[in-house]
Amino acid sequence: MRVVLLASLYKSGEAVGALLEARRHDVLRFSEPERALGKLETDQAANAFIVVNCGNIEKAIETCWDARLMASFERPIYIGLVARPMPSQVVVEALDCGADDVLQMPLSSDELYARLRSAERLNQMQMQLVKMATRDALTGLLNRSAFFSRSEKICRVATRPFAAIMADIDHFKAVNDRYGHAAGDKALKAVAECLDGRAEVVARLGGEEFVLLLPASGASSARRVAEELRSAIAGCEIDIDGAPLRVTCSFGVAVAEPGATIDDLLRRADSALYVAKRDGRNRVAVHDAETPSPDTHPGSVIRHAGNRVESVRRQAVG
Ligand code: GH3
Ligand code: MG
Ligand code: MG
Repeated sequence: MRVVLLASLYKSGEAVGALLEARRHDVLRFSEPERALGKLETDQAANAFIVVNCGNIEKAIETCWDARLMASFERPIYIGLVARPMPSQVVVEALDCGADDVLQMPLSSDELYARLRSAERLNQMQMQLVKMATRDALTGLLNRSAFFSRSEKICRVATRPFAAIMADIDHFKAVNDRYGHAAGDKALKAVAECLDGRAEVVARLGGEEFVLLLPASGASSARRVAEELRSAIAGCEIDIDGAPLRVTCSFGVAVAEPGATIDDLLRRADSALYVAKRDGRNRVAVHDAETPSPDTHPGSVIRHAGNRVESVRRQAVG
């Protein structure tokens, strides 16, 4: 594990650090709580925080609490407190304030290792759950709900315009009808690979629809990215039982000013996508004053449910 180790006394920090390193844990040692907590906050790979307390136990418990506040569903942090023997109610207080374990001095190395093995097991399980809850099983991209929760955070703190690109595979139903569902799945994965890593947030919204969020991006750079993606997807050969299959995507781009919501941005990107479909597919359309409003699309129903923009396209488009 990557352990932020806080020990006010140099000697105890050295001793516990050496024990951890002997089991190949990556140890970052600190003697001041503020610096240790600062590291824990900025180093997202740190997944354990161990406080070796030789002084004020209340202060040590408070530090455990501050560390606990940094943990989240997507970032499990094991918190261990090593301290002199203490009354049971203090142990209870430490556990209630965020410590996962309280280890008493003199420290048994075997016990420390066993606690960390158990922490590692839990950590791996939680990361697996996080993956299952946030990733689309077929493509490995973020799923719809992870897209909204990440994007909402980004939009909330945006100080510059930001953009969304919506992509929808063209005539995908015909791909399934002609080549079968397994070939359709292969095409979905190939499209996802072309999109993956091309923006800060890339997700499969559902079906054959994808979305990318580009923080700090204006219309021209978002259009450029969408054009590159369009041409990469159109040029990609998908092997279906030895025969090459090609698919194309239509793209809708919209830009929002700081303060706008992700729902509003997506509704406009969806309207631009409608225009790209209407005008012939395999193309990019950028939302502007001429773009029809979502409510007036023929064949497109935009339902706005809380933070979930539901879009049901569109037989009528083609
Ligand atoms: P358009 O160009 O207007 O977007 O036409 P389209 O055929 O792509 O759109 P339509 O909405 O009619 O069809 C989408 C199809 O996507 C229908 C559905 O069976 C298929 N689809 C949705 N999810 C999956 C999936 O996970 N795997 C496969 N193979 N197909 C899927
Ligand atoms: Mg489609
Ligand atoms: Mg669609």
